[in-house]
Amino acid sequence: MAQLSDDCFAFGGPMMSVDEAVGLITTRVDAIADIETVAVIDADGRVLARDIAAPLPLPPFTNSAVDGYAVRNADLPESAERAFPLDGRIQAGGLALAPIKAGHTARIFTGAPMPPDAETVFMQEDVRLDEAGRIVLPPGLKPGANVRPAGEDIPQGHVALRAGQRLLPQHIALAAAFGLTRLDVVRRIRVAVFSTGDELASPGEPRAASQLFDSNRFMLMAMLRRLGCEVFDLGILRDERNALADGLKQVAGSHDLILTTGGVSTGEEDHVKAAVESIGSLVLWRMAIKPGRPVAMGIIGGTPLIGLPGNPVASFVTFVHVVRPTVLALAGSLPEPLLPIPVRAAFTYKKKIGRREYVRSSLRRGEDGALEAVKFPREGAGLLSSLVETDGLIELGDDITRVEPGQSVGFLSYADLL
Ligand code: AMP
Ligand code: MG
Repeated sequence: MAQLSDDCFAFGGPMMSVDEAVGLITTRVDAIADIETVAVIDADGRVLARDIAAPLPLPPFTNSAVDGYAVRNADLPESAERAFPLDGRIQAGGLALAPIKAGHTARIFTGAPMPPDAETVFMQEDVRLDEAGRIVLPPGLKPGANVRPAGEDIPQGHVALRAGQRLLPQHIALAAAFGLTRLDVVRRIRVAVFSTGDELASPGEPRAASQLFDSNRFMLMAMLRRLGCEVFDLGILRDERNALADGLKQVAGSHDLILTTGGVSTGEEDHVKAAVESIGSLVLWRMAIKPGRPVAMGIIGGTPLIGLPGNPVASFVTFVHVVRPTVLALAGSLPEPLLPIPVRAAFTYKKKIGRREYVRSSLRRGEDGALEAVKFPREGAGLLSSLVETDGLIELGDDITRVEPGQSVGFLSYADLL
């Protein structure tokens, strides 16, 4: 399990920028060192534990890139077309044992090995047959055309996959292309998830008239799973200091991260701070981010705790900027900075200087075909519909004070956040 010092999340300033938060997490959270070996297909979404050097070149042998006719470079027609007697036929998966004879051509198919001495392939669309049944090849083809040399993709020994890479289907393909069947990956980060609040009822249980069903816990668990975590659903803790402290204490030490939602503001019924302070250490990070309120960062017996705000949109946005980098750091993942894509604003917006704001927006095509962002019409941080009915977040940097229609703004798709 993770073992962090009690003061690891201490921060001197009054207000923390998003970049400072990510910087602090990346430098202060140590990666867990546990490795497990899984089948290549099961490594999708996992963090690779060791570098992989290509055990063979890709492609492994020189082969034809097209269906056509192979010739020697010395025989390439230069200024006029030339007829070649056909000699041999090489299919994909077949062997071309005999070298190609001077002045001859061989029928060859995509992916078939080049015969010895043949260096160039004419596409079948570019040739014709003469009356004698010979293959007539046109002039002007470059030597080596339509051939894929061994190792042109990846030379043998090249470090093609790096430790810390969060594996995507294309990385799985590469491992398979190397003939690997199993990969060493970092063990899943074990996260204990709690909601807090007397007003919450779990779906499937009775709901009192003054209660709402807990949605954040399910959103956060789904987000964590997409980040490759092993998630432990620990239900709802009541708004009571001792109950909270007991619940949290029970999971510290057996998990890599404790995640809570709700109860971290400074209201009288926000008890997470006092609860954590009674069994560990806690700081409230006041982040210069909207939506978002204070985020609690704590340590209980060496186990990190993150307390997200209760409002669903604030919870979602702060997850992306605090929980995501923490999980990636715990898993020893290479940094994955979020890179907004420029789109055209189709809305007007005013904001305060000195904080970063995220505007829930949908994308559409403008009349000229360019992508435009349309702001969700309402702003409340409790509106789940605002997340459901939009495509992503417009990121407005600290220095921006207003957005006018037509202005270029950065868009982060929900699909890219996890
Ligand atoms: P809090 O941060 O505890 O003050 O909660 C802020 C708002 O978010 C309140 O309206 C809560 O009812 C709501 N809220 C807190 N936790 C959840 C949750 N798990 N699911 C849905 N809404 C929540
Ligand atoms: Mg609450």
